[in-house]
Amino acid sequence: MDSANLVTEALTNGAFFLGRSWTRYLVVCGGAFVLFWVVFKERFAHRRIQRQNPERRTLLSEFRNSLLGIIFFLLPSVLSTPLYLSGHMKLITDPSATSPAMIALSFVLFVIGADTWFYWTHRGMHHSNVYRFTHELHHRSKQPSPLAGYAFSAIEGFVLGLYLPLVLLVFPVNRVMLWIFVFWFTFLEAYVHLGFEVLPRWIARNPVTKFLGTAVFHDMHHENGAYNFGVYFTWWDRMMGTIHPQYTERYEQVTEQRLLWRAPVDGVEDSV
Ligand SMILES: [Zn+2]
Ligand SMILES: [Zn+2]
Repeated sequence: MDSANLVTEALTNGAFFLGRSWTRYLVVCGGAFVLFWVVFKERFAHRRIQRQNPERRTLLSEFRNSLLGIIFFLLPSVLSTPLYLSGHMKLITDPSATSPAMIALSFVLFVIGADTWFYWTHRGMHHSNVYRFTHELHHRSKQPSPLAGYAFSAIEGFVLGLYLPLVLLVFPVNRVMLWIFVFWFTFLEAYVHLGFEVLPRWIARNPVTKFLGTAVFHDMHHENGAYNFGVYFTWWDRMMGTIHPQYTERYEQVTEQRLLWRAPVDGVEDSV
């Protein structure tokens, strides 16, 4: 394929990825924002993680920076088009070529790998030498909303987006697994920036589920960038001693009332 065709192919891929990613962001993160920050704001007020609310202009910046951040996040995949066309990427395009069990297993491994990539690159971007031009933009949200899910600077978006093409260079991955992953990732980004905790109270102490990343866990990172660098899981922070010492207590404090608890009206409490 000559270089003009290669550029056309890369641009076509890029436009396709971008259209789908922006749509997912608008539906999932935008939808979460409308539900929790507008329509049911009062209904879930007892599960709000921080008392203070961001200014309107911060929310608008989160929205604009996420639309841009998605472009930077996709860039490594788009730039990998020549490698894909020359057969160097191990993408399996036939959905039936991989069994559902293998797709499930590869998803779990892919997520564990993504969490490791995220923890270490994220922690690296907090280093004072590089923080200002890599990750400071994401931390402009002190009280994050789901609109901040993809608010990445050019460098941060690119670094995070590198994970997918790097994996595809080494491991065979079915396209179906990637579809599942990108949907799951969008929901995760909306959830950890929700500003409200929706999971049950026992999550934080249960010996298995305490390793899951939660909205409280990541919200505390936006409050204090010295702790909680993981997002999918808490195990790297637990192993490396970077988990916030008050995480469990804070989680239980936020989730003290059930999600569907209603504030008492005339002394009548309605807990579902
Ligand atoms: Zn964040
Ligand atoms: Zn950070």
